[in-house]
Amino acid sequence: MSGHLDEQQLTDYAAGERLDAAEVEAIEGHLFGCDSCAARAAEAASLVTRLRDVFRALPPMLMSDAELEAMTRTHQVQVCNVGAFEQVFATVSPHVDIAVTRIAVDLTGVERLDVKLCAADGAPFIEVSGATFEPGAKFVNVVCDVHIASQNTAFRVQLSGVRGGVPVQLADCTVAQPRA
Ligand SMILES: [Zn+2]
Repeated sequence: MSGHLDEQQLTDYAAGERLDAAEVEAIEGHLFGCDSCAARAAEAASLVTRLRDVFRALPPMLMSDAELEAMTRTHQVQVCNVGAFEQVFATVSPHVDIAVTRIAVDLTGVERLDVKLCAADGAPFIEVSGATFEPGAKFVNVVCDVHIASQNTAFRVQLSGVRGGVPVQLADCTVAQPRA
């Protein structure tokens, strides 16, 4: 292994994911001899632990305004407002536990709501069919860790549903995150 460990390696190592035994061995070999990477690895580990705690305690991916309000009392929540078919830029502070994308979308008359969280190119991360939502809500709050926990610098939220028995596309918005 040449040079220091990169963010992806540190995150994967901390999360115990995606690495085979040889990669783990190489990373541990480097960490043993490099104080700077060892310090970054400890940081990554504490972030992973914090995220796991948060997501274990999380309500479903969609939160009502009341749940969002309650969440802000116990967690560092950053809310990013976006119109249903808009693209916004948002820089997430490193101190944030939970990032919420707050989409302005009128759910009046909507009988069914499907949520798709995708990479900027449309590859889906998470899909929820028949999500629970508040009838008549004017906002959909999507709880999201992808842009903290991964290398993705943009993601899309697509909302579709059924209104009056007719399928409707309710939102297709993109949140882009220039690296801080
Ligand atoms: Zn190093």
